[in-house]
This record gives sequence, C-alpha cells and structure tokens, in this order.
Amino acid sequence: MKPMAARAAAMPPFEIRDIMELAWQTPGCIHLEVGQPNFSTPEYINQAGIEAIQGGFTGYTSARGIPELQEAICHKLLQRNGIKATANNITVCPGAVTALDSTVMALVEQGDEVLIPDPAWHNPKAIIGFLGATPVPYTLKPETGFLPDMQELKKLVSTRTKAIVINTPANPTGGVFPRELLEGIYTLARKHDLYVLSDEIYEEFVFDGNHFSIKSIDDDERVISIFGLSKSHAMTGWRLGYAIAPAPISEVVTKLQEALVSCASSISQKAAVAALCGPYDEVEKMCQAYKRRRDIALDVLRGYGLYEYTPGGAFYLMVNVSRLGNDSSQIAKQLLRETKVATAPGTAFGSSMKQHVRISLAAKEDDIQTGLERICRTITSRA
Ligand code: PMP
Repeated sequence: MKPMAARAAAMPPFEIRDIMELAWQTPGCIHLEVGQPNFSTPEYINQAGIEAIQGGFTGYTSARGIPELQEAICHKLLQRNGIKATANNITVCPGAVTALDSTVMALVEQGDEVLIPDPAWHNPKAIIGFLGATPVPYTLKPETGFLPDMQELKKLVSTRTKAIVINTPANPTGGVFPRELLEGIYTLARKHDLYVLSDEIYEEFVFDGNHFSIKSIDDDERVISIFGLSKSHAMTGWRLGYAIAPAPISEVVTKLQEALVSCASSISQKAAVAALCGPYDEVEKMCQAYKRRRDIALDVLRGYGLYEYTPGGAFYLMVNVSRLGNDSSQIAKQLLRETKVATAPGTAFGSSMKQHVRISLAAKEDDIQTGLERICRTITSRA
C-alpha cells in the first residue's frame, strides 16, 4: 500500500479525547473537561430553524451565506463590535472552526511562520503544521493573567512571519486582552506587514466591560476576525460561524468553503438570523451564569491557597497542579482516578502547560464547587 499523505497522518490527536473517553467510562464522574455550553439553544432560535425546515428551506445556499444572514451579520458587527462590513467581507461557515481553517488555508503556505499563543485551542497549530508552515508559539503566563508579552512577540517576528493568531477571550485560559494590548499587537502587525487572525468566538463572555475587537481598528485591512454562534447562543451542534476579512481574502475564503463544504446548513443560517437579530437577554444571562461560576471556582481556589489569576471571560480556568508533578496528561488521569473529576490536561493546549489542567465552567455550580474542592484537596494533600 502506498503511504497516506504524510502531513495529514502526522497531525497530532487532540489530547482531550483520551480523558473524555476515560471519563465516560467512570460512573459518577464530574465532567469539568468539556468545552461545550451546558445551556440549551434559546427557543426563538430553535423556532426559526423549525420554520426553515417546515417552509422547505432545506437546499444549498450560496457559499458566502444567505443575503438575509449577511445583512444580520453586518448589523451585528456594527452594533456590537464597531466593525463596518459589507457582504463582500463575510463568509458564513459551518462553525468557527471552518472559518478559521479556511482563513489559515487562504493565507499560509509552506515555509511561512505563524505566531500562535501557547496555551491555545489546538486547532490553528494543527492546521498550520498541516500546511507545511511553522507555528511559532508565544507564551501566555499565569503571572500576567495569561496575556502576551509585547517584548517577546517583537523578538519572535522574523522575515518569514506571515501572521499572528490571537484569541480573546481565550480558550483555555479565560484571558481577555485589553484594548491597549490589541492596539500594540496591531501596530506590530502593521510594522512588519503581518496578517492578524483574531478568534473572537467567546466575544459575548467578557465579565467586566465589553469585548473589544481588533478588527474595529483595522485601518489598513490586515485583520481577519472569526466569530460564531456555538458559544454565544449555545449552538454548538448547529455549526454556524463566520469570517470577516478584507474583500480579496474573503473571496478566497469563500472559494475554499465552496470546495470544502459547499455552504453552511441552510436551516442553521435561518436560525442564525433569529439569533443575531433577536434579543440578547439570554446571552446576557449565560454570561452572568459563567461569571458566577468563575467566582465560585475562585473562592474554592482561594480557600485552599491555590488562587493564581482571575479569568476575565470565556468559560475556562487553568488550575496549577505542579504539586502533583510535571506531566498534566498523567495528572488529569490521576485526578480522574482518585477524585472522579475529569479535567483537560494543560499540554492539550501547548507545551508551556505541563503543570496545569483546564477546568470548564460549562458545568453546574454544584459540580464546579464539589469537583474543584476534590481537586484542591488532592493537590494540598501532596504539599
Ligand atoms: N475557537 C476556539 C477558541 C474554540 O474554543 C472553539 C471551539 N471549542 C472554536 C474556535 C470552534 O467553534 P465552533 O466551530 O463550534 O464554532
């Protein structure tokens, strides 16, 4: 048999899968490993999807998305993000992941370097490697609330650097990049002629103040922002995201969509119109719930003297487990065995996180409290 494509075969598996499978085989396990909202999609959105099906709106759409949704996206971008966009800037995709991957495919090729956060959600690194380019990690440290150090970023830029990937609010840290930091990143990108690939999927979950999009200061058209409804409207299974890019890039992203998936689901697109035009009360309630859960988690950590930083958004928290060793993958398994609490190993998000596990706040308050207490008791028992 001839070999498979080397780069595809070499793509690393996502480390969380292992722990998820072990967790599902552990009766009575508390699940703090899953990065999926534990809310239902709001009813008015479900209804729009049902009406789309009943009205026979079940065919292919244009690769860019239906005009009604493009209009809703433009309106939302202007109202909530301060971004001026037209249909030529939008590609609607099945989930933010497709928007992100297609954008990376549109910009990055063999030999390029791309600055990526460490820790980060695994996907950009995997796809950059798949394309034969080099992901160059910049470190996010708990001491700074997991925000990047501009001096380090400056040092990492080389003549081969094509783009910088940012994610705020961030998975897995919950870090929120302040506006001044984003302005600094934009200035750096402009100086070295870099693209900025900004993953803003958690935009609605900022606990103090509002999300600031780097796209809103993109005077010379080098930012591509990725948004989606999976998290904001608890719609992971609907698979709906969108990329906002300068028109020539958007055209290529759209061509890639055509080649890869033809278009996003017509039904989900109708539901997305309802989501983006609808009231944001339920989104706001979800944000408040995540904030409450974060505070519960921080209280537990403080109670055990294990507080390290305060996540400003998203629904994750990194917990320092260095007293248990130096291999977060083993530690996550140990915690599952000994405490029946599933967490995501830090190394699933980057090599800097060998001594952290991620807990997800997309769980019930009681589970967060009990689960984290069990983890903290185990950690402090080894002090
Ligand atoms: N970006 C980040 C940072 C994520 O955590 C996720 C999902 N976990 C995505 C993008 C993709 O979201 P989706 O494809 O469901 O829209």
